Amino acid sequence: MNLAFISHPDCQRHRMGAHHPEAPDRLHAIQDRLIASGMEMLVTHYDAPAATFEQLTRAHDPGYVRGIEEAAPRGEDSLVWIDGDTAMCKWTLEAARRSAGAAILGVDLVMGDRHHAAFCSVRPPGHHAERARAMGFCFFNNVAVGAAHAIEEHGLERIAILDFDVHHGNGTEDIFAGDERVLFCSSFQHPFYPGTGADSKASNVVNIPLPRSTGGEGFKAAVEERWLPRIDAFAPQLIMISAGFDGHAEDDMAQFNLREPDYAWVTRRAHELAVKHAGERIVSCLEGGYDLSSLGRSVSTHVDELIGHA
Ligand SMILES: [Zn+2]
Repeated sequence: MNLAFISHPDCQRHRMGAHHPEAPDRLHAIQDRLIASGMEMLVTHYDAPAATFEQLTRAHDPGYVRGIEEAAPRGEDSLVWIDGDTAMCKWTLEAARRSAGAAILGVDLVMGDRHHAAFCSVRPPGHHAERARAMGFCFFNNVAVGAAHAIEEHGLERIAILDFDVHHGNGTEDIFAGDERVLFCSSFQHPFYPGTGADSKASNVVNIPLPRSTGGEGFKAAVEERWLPRIDAFAPQLIMISAGFDGHAEDDMAQFNLREPDYAWVTRRAHELAVKHAGERIVSCLEGGYDLSSLGRSVSTHVDELIGHA
């Protein structure tokens, strides 16, 4: 079975100013690299639907979703800043709805029999968006909206979310802390933005704070020791991934020294666990990754492993 590759043209219309690192070119870089690597042949493209109000409010407060809807500017060139680094343009609301809708479609597709895995090549990203707060380039928490959909619509009882973005997935933790249907695993540079995660108490959260300059060996050792046994014991029916590639050595958003083989390794481990417990079902959503070259190469590696070679 090949991989579902989900995106939407609206995801490239969302802009936060000419010099903002979370830029439309990120998705072009991924697409270009997939074509150059020959991986295009192994994926089926889908247009993301827009998530509905009902779907969004499984993960977010209704008042918050309405606030984001109302904050959207109408003018062609206007920007409305929601926090210090997160702004809405005319297209942002639709892009954010499509990004969350991609995760929903990804879940629906892997729960069917045509695809075992889906990659959502979308922006804005989602993992910093809390139940009632936009921050860190994120508006709606895509992976959380997808997981909530899997629980409500498909009756799943155990979903593992793996977040290897270099930043802590504070939004996903905010939404699911204490909800035993979800096991949330996040690895991140610490101390660093957004400053959360090092002292989380919730029993369904497995955080791995790691010092700056962490490379592949340190990352892999921590994942082996902290994540893999917990996920194996949890026996998830679906694995979702917050796939951020801003921990790459060439990405100067942060100070990790990960490389493509490290992303391949963690994806392969996730795939093995999905084969063992989850009928091979994985839905991965793009989060960070701002150096265009290393982003394209890393996603290509990640997608290759998601397709699987078992
Ligand atoms: Zn990040």
